[in-house]
Amino acid sequence: MKKMIIAGNWKMNTLPNEAENLVSNIISGIQNKDYKSEIVVCPPFTNLQTVSTLIYNSKIKLGAQNCFYEPKGAFTGEISIPMLKFFDVEYIIIGHSERRTYFSETDELINKKAKAILESGLKPIICIGETLQEREQGKTFEILFNQLDLCLKDLKDKNFSNIVIAYEPVWAIGTGISATTEQIEEAHNEIKHYIGKKFNLNEDDIVLQYGGSVTADNSEEILSIKNVNGALIGGASLKSEIFLKIIDIAENILQS
Ligand code: PEP
Repeated sequence: MKKMIIAGNWKMNTLPNEAENLVSNIISGIQNKDYKSEIVVCPPFTNLQTVSTLIYNSKIKLGAQNCFYEPKGAFTGEISIPMLKFFDVEYIIIGHSERRTYFSETDELINKKAKAILESGLKPIICIGETLQEREQGKTFEILFNQLDLCLKDLKDKNFSNIVIAYEPVWAIGTGISATTEQIEEAHNEIKHYIGKKFNLNEDDIVLQYGGSVTADNSEEILSIKNVNGALIGGASLKSEIFLKIIDIAENILQS
């Protein structure tokens, strides 16, 4: 059966009362439904405790938006994986293009984070994606494969049961311009093929989300693509009714 993970990246949004409202509405919306897809919310660090308490005993899983790779020490301003584990975080987004762009994160750093997350028994959501300029120059796959080589360096095939890759074309994030079905299909086929060959994996065992301006309106088309295993959703995950609609659409696809 196709695996589907619908994850909401709340980015730097929500004060505690807003986070409480948002997650409470999501919990109410999925109550008594037998969902097969995984539902993940990734609030800012300051709301992890609130959200963690509210989702306890629900089907919603907790994600964080970043971490540092050292477990503790003199790293002012950073958050460690044990700190996140304390709040029952299961997924950690790493390599998001906003972190690469605004905080100069490199593939080498992302690789260190990925290893530390896996060693702690948590699951990285590793984001990769090309810029518009790179796409226009015909370099999309050169860029994606290079990011995969560096971000996944020294990882083992057995790690893949805990790894999620998110293909997020930089030009589609927060712009309202999603990649076309053909572009997503091509990229997902190529990425799965590349990882499958490199790690000797069955392509169906690789979990590959799409991210970039996913909405309730385009999610049916995107999530129906064979090699798409869910979505990483920014803006649309901040409105519970839209996020719930996308979850419903994912569920209908899984059960059809
Ligand atoms: C994201 O934050 O990963 C993202 C894809 O954002 P948006 O859905 O707003 O494009």
